[in-house]
Amino acid sequence: MRRVYLEQEDGKRPHLAGDGRCDSPGFNAQYCHYTFMLDDTKEILHTELVQSTEATSSGAMEPLGFRRGMTELLDLGLDVEVMTTDRSSSIRKIMREQYLNIQHEFDIWHTAKGFWNKILTKGEKKDTAILLAWTRSVVNHMWYSCATSKGDIEALQNRWKSITHHVCNEHEWRDDDGKQHRCDHPPLTAQDQRMRMWIDKDSVALQALSSLVLNERLLKDLNQMALFKHTGPLENFHSALLKYLPKRQYHGMRERCHLAILDHNENIVKRKQATTVTGEARFKQVYCKKSKQWILKKVFTPHTTQFVGDLIERVLESRRNPNIKFKTPTTSLALPQPASPPNIAPVPKPSKETAKALFQSHF
Ligand SMILES: [Zn+2]
Repeated sequence: MRRVYLEQEDGKRPHLAGDGRCDSPGFNAQYCHYTFMLDDTKEILHTELVQSTEATSSGAMEPLGFRRGMTELLDLGLDVEVMTTDRSSSIRKIMREQYLNIQHEFDIWHTAKGFWNKILTKGEKKDTAILLAWTRSVVNHMWYSCATSKGDIEALQNRWKSITHHVCNEHEWRDDDGKQHRCDHPPLTAQDQRMRMWIDKDSVALQALSSLVLNERLLKDLNQMALFKHTGPLENFHSALLKYLPKRQYHGMRERCHLAILDHNENIVKRKQATTVTGEARFKQVYCKKSKQWILKKVFTPHTTQFVGDLIERVLESRRNPNIKFKTPTTSLALPQPASPPNIAPVPKPSKETAKALFQSHF
């Protein structure tokens, strides 16, 4: 927390991202971790553990963890400026009713994934099947519109809506209000023009796509994505948490989760992109089965667990501190010395003098 206070002294109010992870999906979940991450460094700041017995239902565990965590962080004096979450209706309600002075942003990944599935569903019919050829481009355009808006909601909305013109091979147009608009991309070459399956302006397919792109609820949600925030690193943390907290491992859950946080924070800050002997950044190519494409990924320096040694050293320091009184005497907690392995030689060791005499006789 000290680090966060320092940032506040610099005049920056922290931006956080939060996400929950339950031990199993649906109604059988026994517990849920709700984790808060600092958006700029991706360090985990706080986590709340909620057991199913504490909530009215499995679905209520995540909002309960969120509410508890927010209370804890704000009580500690954290002056949060932006909070990014998924679009869960219960968390939206909590933010709207209790944290009006904190800007609530949505993670773009969840929205983009949902939108991808909606286009796939719309494209199932014969007269709208052309939409399937545009799925990736339209979803990429959503990412692009959010990434380039830099908080300007109007710019984001205009850029996003422009896709309904672009797919018809219309790259300059006049709106109903008489305003002139154009796509951001440079003029298309003749080859670009030939490469695309342009959609007819009067087609059912364009109507179907427009109904998705211009959906009022989506347009409203996009207003909360203009800062281009993500909760993706939290999902990575939740996957890594499995190493410390395997499913159905209920013993010491809180402590195991804290170890996972120490591991995450050490590596998220220290690990840099690896370089070759000549100093060039290293990459590797990985085949993605889902997208059926080769993807370029950064290669990072090796994962470290320096925090384990630090923790042991701090525990030993406390034991050595004469001002701290322990219930159990320190002597009984002395670390067991590893027993020397038995000598495996089948004949007794000769004396050093005999050995030396034998060694010299070889010459
Ligand atoms: Zn265009």
